[in-house]
Amino acid sequence: AHLDRIGEVDGAVHAFLHVDAEGALAQAAAADERRAEGTTLSPLDGVPIAVKDVLATEGLPTTCGSKILEGWVPPYDATAVARLRAAGLPILGKTNMDEFAMGSSTEHSAYGPTRNPWDLDRIPGGSGGGSAAAVAAFEAPLALGTDTGGSIRQPGAVTGTVGVKPTYGAVSRYGLVALANSLDQVGPVTRTVLDAALLHEVIGGHDPRDSTSIQAPVPDLVAAARRGADGDLTGVRVGVVKELGGDGYQDGVLARFTETVDLMVAAGAEVVEVSCPSFVHALAAYYLILPAEASSNLAKFDAMRYGLRVLPDGVADPSAEEVMRATRDAGFGDEVKRRIILGTYALSSGYYDAYYGQAQKVRTLITRDFDAAFERADVLVSPTAPTTAFRLGEKVDDPLAMYLNDLATIPANLSGVPGISVPSGLADEDGLPAGLQVLAPVQADDRCYRVGAAVE
Ligand code: GLN
Repeated sequence: AHLDRIGEVDGAVHAFLHVDAEGALAQAAAADERRAEGTTLSPLDGVPIAVKDVLATEGLPTTCGSKILEGWVPPYDATAVARLRAAGLPILGKTNMDEFAMGSSTEHSAYGPTRNPWDLDRIPGGSGGGSAAAVAAFEAPLALGTDTGGSIRQPGAVTGTVGVKPTYGAVSRYGLVALANSLDQVGPVTRTVLDAALLHEVIGGHDPRDSTSIQAPVPDLVAAARRGADGDLTGVRVGVVKELGGDGYQDGVLARFTETVDLMVAAGAEVVEVSCPSFVHALAAYYLILPAEASSNLAKFDAMRYGLRVLPDGVADPSAEEVMRATRDAGFGDEVKRRIILGTYALSSGYYDAYYGQAQKVRTLITRDFDAAFERADVLVSPTAPTTAFRLGEKVDDPLAMYLNDLATIPANLSGVPGISVPSGLADEDGLPAGLQVLAPVQADDRCYRVGAAVE
């Protein structure tokens, strides 16, 4: 049924870069056989899933939305993908994304944009717009995304889906093509909070192949989601973050946010206002730390090891450096080049302390703000994104306007705390979905699920 749906709508939506109909049907048939024998591998056995094209999939192309990886077929699975297979989830295919996960609209994909199923003239968010659009358009019931600065939560908000960024280290990053190692997390994209909890339990847990993987059991997320669905938040302290709202946020987004907070009060929650003064510097710090890590990660695309190799025009016997230059020039898009330049500059000798060092200090201040806020509140809430989905082309030539979409989501990545985005309703001005973000302390992902399920 999902393959049929992909056939019907994906020409218009373009959520997928690669569909593996044969593989998915074979995996589904195996799940049917298990069911007939009375065994299942997991609660999600036989439920199909789409995977963001930044995760390595054995035998399936993995491009990261970039021309530089065109034609690369990984010889191994990312741990998150291996766990999907072990739990019996058929893999439908790979979803579109901004090149190397840089962007908030999926317009920076080298393979053309994905469109928002709510309005095909609008963006589905990014960088994981393909995963969010696939779930919103009923092409897949579940998807995997990755969130470095908001790329699961912001597409969730603008497509009316649920998106989770787990605690940093909760889901293995092995086989995830790194954008920024200290910020990246793999997480669920679904239509309900309970689905997200079920999927998170499949992919989460310690992995010796990721040195930052947490060595502790995953909290009981499914139980937390079920508990939240009862709609009782008695005794839960909810902190409204003063700095994440107001100026720059669309009226309709703020109206749905206020209503959702009122719902929490009605459910018995105690609501307090908290201030996180350093959050106003989060975007600036992120856009130094991220390009620094990304420029170093992308150095491995040297025309020798993976995918594309371009020979320079008119050079008879090109050197390795000339081949590398021609390949990177042709293979990387403008946004990727912009960030390589920014990151290389920020890390260059003489500027290191002024930029990268300074940004790391801001990162510490943001963590201190979170620590203080979580003394007063069990969870923190804000709108997920400042606006609903904007029109294709509206911000693509204005990097700063694009970066501002992540204002509310970036602090969680800088500090490692978990966050969920759940639909909060449709904005009055345009009838498009808005999202509520719920943040919790490190390793308290269960709180995101409980509160998210209570208000979804
Ligand atoms: N939009 C942000 C960026 O461009 C976030 C990306 C992400 O989370 N992968 O960096």
